[in-house]
Amino acid sequence: MLVEDNKLNQRLMESSLRRFGFLIELAANGLEAVEKYQTDPHKYSLIIMDIMMPVMDGLEATRQIRIFEQIHNLRIPIIALTANTFNADRERCLSYGMDDYLAKPLNMELLAQSFRNLGII
Ligand SMILES: [Mg+2]
Repeated sequence: MLVEDNKLNQRLMESSLRRFGFLIELAANGLEAVEKYQTDPHKYSLIIMDIMMPVMDGLEATRQIRIFEQIHNLRIPIIALTANTFNADRERCLSYGMDDYLAKPLNMELLAQSFRNLGII
């Protein structure tokens, strides 16, 4: 699942992710992502999560997904995708339960590295 509010970024990210052979489902904000995941958690193998989004940001969405998972004994990899690359932001993402943190614009090699680290590819 790709969670991103910006249409241009959605398109760029989709084409990057397709190169890895993923089928992509879009969510336009954090709330949509939480609802989709809770409706059918086994449908997804990975969540790529933007941080800054309207309605519900990526940090809160991740927090809610992790709470849901604790109840249902699930654990999906979540990779944060954000314009901020400061160390403090990285730590913040990880503290909310994200597994990794990548900067925009997306670097394909770093994305592949992250997928390998998380055992996704
Ligand atoms: Mg955004």
